[in-house]
Amino acid sequence: MSTVSDYFGSMVFDDRVMRASLSADVYASLRKTIDEGSELDISVANAVAEAMKNWAVAKGATHFTHWFQPLNGITAEKHDSFISPSPDGSVIMEFSGKELIKGEPDASSFPSGGLRATFEARGYTAWDPTSYAFIKGKTLCIPTAFCSYGGHALDKKTPLLRSMEVLSRQAVRILRLFGNNTAKRVVSSVGPEQEYFLITQEMYDKRPDLRFTGRTLFGAKPPKGQELDDHYFGVIKPGVTAFMEDLNDELWKLGILAKTEHNEVAPAQHELAPIYTTTNLATDQNQLTMEIMQKVAAKHGFVCLLHEKPFEGVNGSGKHNNWSIATDSGINLLSPGETPYENAQFLLFLCAVIKAVDDYQDLLRIAVATAGNDHRLGANEAPPAIVSMFLGDELNAVLESIETDTPYQGTAKTQMKLGVDVLPKFNRDTTDRNRTSPFAFTGNKFEFRSLGSSNSIACTNIMLNSAVAESLRIYADRLEKAEDFETELHEMIRKTIKDHKRIIFNGNGYDDAWVKEATEVRGLLNYRTTADCMPHLMDEKNVKMLTGLGVFTIDELKSRRDIMLENYCKTVVIEANTMINMVHKRIAPAITRFTADLAGEAAQKKALFPELELKYETELVARLSALTDSIIEKSNELEAAVKGLSAAEDIIAESELIRDTVVPKMSTLRVPCDEAELLTAKSYWPFPTYGDILFSVK
Ligand code: ADP
Ligand code: MG
Repeated sequence: MSTVSDYFGSMVFDDRVMRASLSADVYASLRKTIDEGSELDISVANAVAEAMKNWAVAKGATHFTHWFQPLNGITAEKHDSFISPSPDGSVIMEFSGKELIKGEPDASSFPSGGLRATFEARGYTAWDPTSYAFIKGKTLCIPTAFCSYGGHALDKKTPLLRSMEVLSRQAVRILRLFGNNTAKRVVSSVGPEQEYFLITQEMYDKRPDLRFTGRTLFGAKPPKGQELDDHYFGVIKPGVTAFMEDLNDELWKLGILAKTEHNEVAPAQHELAPIYTTTNLATDQNQLTMEIMQKVAAKHGFVCLLHEKPFEGVNGSGKHNNWSIATDSGINLLSPGETPYENAQFLLFLCAVIKAVDDYQDLLRIAVATAGNDHRLGANEAPPAIVSMFLGDELNAVLESIETDTPYQGTAKTQMKLGVDVLPKFNRDTTDRNRTSPFAFTGNKFEFRSLGSSNSIACTNIMLNSAVAESLRIYADRLEKAEDFETELHEMIRKTIKDHKRIIFNGNGYDDAWVKEATEVRGLLNYRTTADCMPHLMDEKNVKMLTGLGVFTIDELKSRRDIMLENYCKTVVIEANTMINMVHKRIAPAITRFTADLAGEAAQKKALFPELELKYETELVARLSALTDSIIEKSNELEAAVKGLSAAEDIIAESELIRDTVVPKMSTLRVPCDEAELLTAKSYWPFPTYGDILFSVK
């Protein structure tokens, strides 16, 4: 039996393999490119390509692909084999530096939001050496960025890399001001906790809604749901354990640090968390994790549901984005320090995040906006659509004492003078008590909890990195010009607290009173749906910040807004059409059959026993017939709402129509269907119920 450490990363062309298979010169140039982003010489690229190919072929690979993340939210790959013909009729396996560095997929079918005119349908992919190549199946996958020939980013990786770069640049400026002359870069890291449902393939195949939309569009509440809280951290069933073991093996081979696994709150719901790593790598790895979860599930006769809200009335699935920033030598800048000077630096970085989250609440909301996640945010299980921050009592007290120049009321009861006093030691346990906050400080990192389980983490981290970079840029501009560094620092921190403390909320984020306070008293944003928030991507302040830092061009932003809105509209329309189809093809016929049989049997009884009242049969037939009429009526209304979308002038108008007409009609159609499910005999109902699906895994 081999142990995990023997095969961990065995399918990754990682630093160990590079060092072993490249000459010292080539390794050194490649390292420089990875660490500092310097240009790669073609002769170096050729040598790297040769080594990569030899390594991959020895592991059974026959193909290579440029692996990228177009704007549809999943990953894309087009495979080319390594074979090249020899004059004698045989083939040799070839792979050049040019093929490694650049690919030209015919990418005209990927969403571009108007960035790529048809005459330049081709985009190109460019190797991202900061994320290691890996083997999936028989294919060497090379992580790449995807751009149009006009140079516009058509993917999620390009702006993510840009955002990491600008954050690093601005953070290093701050570090220099604090006397750190050695840090070359500051790196943002993420550990994404991934939730998912595991159901049996058998149940899945019987539900058109799951197959077409990833979630159930009908389904009455089962007699038992999650009310006993007996699933959370409960004993993992044998079938699920086997799946998790297999999944871990596959992830470990790909160098993914799968660490924690447990059952979640809802029946059939689970979570997987990796150990955190550099944002870029974490993003690639989270995409891979989601893909591999689905593949491994299929091998075990399961389907892994990554939808944010697969079942109404049952908790949905999210993804927690644990984020921190550290220097290239590994000093976490969100960790309170040991000396007064380190404390001041920590507080400045903390303030940069506070300011960023308050100034760009909308961008964080936009980053997690999808039709699926709209069902989760604010549904008393996930953070509300309002973005706020939780810092914990101790840190709050420190900030208050700075803001008001009053003694800190913590254990030390001292005045907080920056650069002089030592911060009290925070008890890590007290920083993470609030599970309802969208953005919580958890001791040495922030946990952003609003992401949906299927979201790429790229968007969130692009916005987070950029917004924090912007705060740091403003701070650095002021501090570099300051006559007296410490006075200016103190003033700036105090002003940040004063101006932005409205974003800090330590209470219960699920409470209705909070919505009122947040919006009416504090003036925080509450964009409930994708249609509400997405147009604000183009608000002047957002465009100014994102283009100013060079993370997006204005055209890239416009295209992204349009693609996200199109995606929202298409998703909802597919759901609506699936509902209409299920009503006509399955639900209405099933109820009709049941009521007809019931009436027939009642008639027989009546013939035999004329004195019987047949109350049960008569009332049930009447109730179900009335429900069927109501179902058809509501289905017709939904159909009309979908038809009405053609009147929309543009994508913003269409998304608003979807929000105001289609989505509400879907909810009303569901009600009589679910009621009918409860009244119809089991053998007649055309698909498995919630109880069947949620409790079928062994
Ligand atoms: P929980 O949130 O369940 O209490 P933890 O806080 O221990 O669990 O960690 C959750 C995730 O946060 C893990 O993926 C972990 O690797 C990640 N994490 C821990 N420290 C950091 C850090 N400094 N930066 C980014 N992510 C981190
Ligand atoms: Mg967590």
